[in-house]
Amino acid sequence: MSAMRHAAGGQHVRHGWVDFVQRRDGLDLAGKVSLSRKLIREWYEAHDGQVFVSVSGGLDSTVLAHLVRSVRKDVPFVYFDSALEFPENRRQCQDMGAQIVRSAVAPKTVLQSYGYPVASKQIAQYVSEVQRARGETPTKRRRLTGINSAGRYSRMSRIPARWLFLCDAPFPVSDRCCFVYKKRPSAKYVRQSGRAPFLGTRADEGNQRLHAWYLHGCNAFDVRHPRSTPLAWWTHENVWAYVRGEGLTYSALYDMGYQRSGCMFCLFGCHLDKCERFRLLAETHPKVYRHCMETLGCRDVLDYVFDHLGGSGSLPFGAPIPRLPSWEAGRR
Ligand code: SF4
Repeated sequence: MSAMRHAAGGQHVRHGWVDFVQRRDGLDLAGKVSLSRKLIREWYEAHDGQVFVSVSGGLDSTVLAHLVRSVRKDVPFVYFDSALEFPENRRQCQDMGAQIVRSAVAPKTVLQSYGYPVASKQIAQYVSEVQRARGETPTKRRRLTGINSAGRYSRMSRIPARWLFLCDAPFPVSDRCCFVYKKRPSAKYVRQSGRAPFLGTRADEGNQRLHAWYLHGCNAFDVRHPRSTPLAWWTHENVWAYVRGEGLTYSALYDMGYQRSGCMFCLFGCHLDKCERFRLLAETHPKVYRHCMETLGCRDVLDYVFDHLGGSGSLPFGAPIPRLPSWEAGRR
């Protein structure tokens, strides 16, 4: 797979899986640092210095922030605080001197009005379209059967059979949470400040990110929301090696057993880790865990999901939560 991109300065580059693997596996850490710095410089100069680093308190954005400041000292850090983030990560961002942009929307409002983020972003979006359809619309038909209005079938445009039960769930399902808490505040900040973002995302974190890299590269100029992702082909091990090599201070969360540090209440992918994240959350942040399960209603959502996936088990504080069903065990 490959795509042409028109980069700043009129130069064309071609990206594909081979390019990705060459950068990911063919460069040592020093080579990656050098190439990332070059990309940072290119983005900075293309925007006359009107750029910022979007930090989350996680390891990737901590490394990116350090790299960017090693190229230009005047680039600000911005933290979009959604109230879904771990307090350790918020502290990390404060310690880095980031500007804090707070969200005015309560998580309960988002989850109960728009829907719970269950399964994956794409499945949640498709289920939401079915749940919100008024009558038998072409979109609803496509999501349920994969057949579009021209009669063509595409497996990718339908909800996988094992997730169809979500359409009848007694709660709304949606991918809007990310839009409300991440995309919208960031787009608003970009509009108001006139600055273009550096993001610490890595392409191996998901197919959508990898696909976006094929299409637009690290410095994505010609897209609706321009962005630079200079760590796109770094690995998790590279990130740790950089943190240790530079002696960076990182979020305390990583010393509490967490491998990743996304939002505390996120239900995306919880069927893949057998709800381990919630078991850990109950141990490290019991108050937050109770709030998530009881006030935000995540316990009922998880019960419903795992009842339909099969199997049974338990979460702390007596919440009945199932084990990984066999079809998922085979996929891991
Ligand atoms: S990662 Fe999950 S919890 Fe966080 S904003 Fe996106 S959907 Fe919501």
